[in-house]
Amino acid sequence: MQHVLVTGGAGYIGSHACKALQAAGFIPVTFDNLSTGWSDAVKFGPFEQGDLSDRAALDAVFARYQPVAVMHFAALSQVGESMQDPGKYWRHNVMGSLTLIEAAVAAGCQNFVFSSTCATYGDQDNVVLDEDSAQLPINAYGASKRAIEDILRNFGASHGLTHVIFRYFNVAGSDPGGEIGEYHQPETHLIPLMLDAIAGKRPALTVFGTDYDTPDGTCIRDYVHVCDLVDAHILGLKWLQDGRGNRIFNLGSGEGFSVREVIDHSRAVTNRDVPVVEGARRAGDCTKLVSGSVRAMTELGWTPERSTLGVMIGDAWRWHQNGHYDK
Ligand code: UDP
Repeated sequence: MQHVLVTGGAGYIGSHACKALQAAGFIPVTFDNLSTGWSDAVKFGPFEQGDLSDRAALDAVFARYQPVAVMHFAALSQVGESMQDPGKYWRHNVMGSLTLIEAAVAAGCQNFVFSSTCATYGDQDNVVLDEDSAQLPINAYGASKRAIEDILRNFGASHGLTHVIFRYFNVAGSDPGGEIGEYHQPETHLIPLMLDAIAGKRPALTVFGTDYDTPDGTCIRDYVHVCDLVDAHILGLKWLQDGRGNRIFNLGSGEGFSVREVIDHSRAVTNRDVPVVEGARRAGDCTKLVSGSVRAMTELGWTPERSTLGVMIGDAWRWHQNGHYDK
């Protein structure tokens, strides 16, 4: 069986990718420093604990497993934090990815699947964002991911590294089987924080800004189920193995929901009250990010099946009531 190196395989999206890779007949090798991930989430293949800044550790992992591809999830991913400490984002995300890409090229591993983000597009008024939209990030997180995309393009041209870049919109939900799920410490994302508030684990959800130029004044995002998202990665890997070359794909549902609409859906799904307080805007937040995901559907044959808000919140709620990890 073929190995795939999964950086960040102990994290939320990476662990779901490992499960999907195993189901597709690959052996996922998790490379993770456990700074935000959980060893309990590594269930589907070998675990190599290490940091992307450690070139020798990466070389040893490439030599040991001879992976046919890299899926690169490991990254810092909090917009707010990236505004407070941009250097941390450039150092960990950009320099770490450069080290990984150089190690992959040196090892002759030519297939690279990269987890990028809609935050590379920035705030573009009332536009549905497709892969040809300008990349104008307004926070250091988005800027760091755009820089890694540039590195991949350069290494593609110079070293023949072929890459599929996925630009994620807002990933939500959990494995419906309940084996793995979303668990961040500290948590910063809307849906898990809201479920915490519903369950009484925090006093209330704070809505970050109610004066945006949207119908109800709160930010609009496009939510995609983590299982649909990782299914696209399997298709992307096969795309590369079939020699179809470098390509960028957005991954979103194509539908936008405001923070208030997400709160209303959560109330309906859980049948419980959602304690909410209104707060100030969070630095770096875009007003509206909605995907045009036609390319992934038509070219990859991707069919998102669980990416309705009701299903995503329902899956997340089931995991939230039962699941957590320890290091
Ligand atoms: N949000 C919020 N309160 C929170 C966390 C998030 O109002 O406690 C909002 C945030 O301003 C954004 C949306 O929810 O408009 C999604 O934020 P999240 O951090 O989940 O993802 P991001 O879009 O930053 O990647």
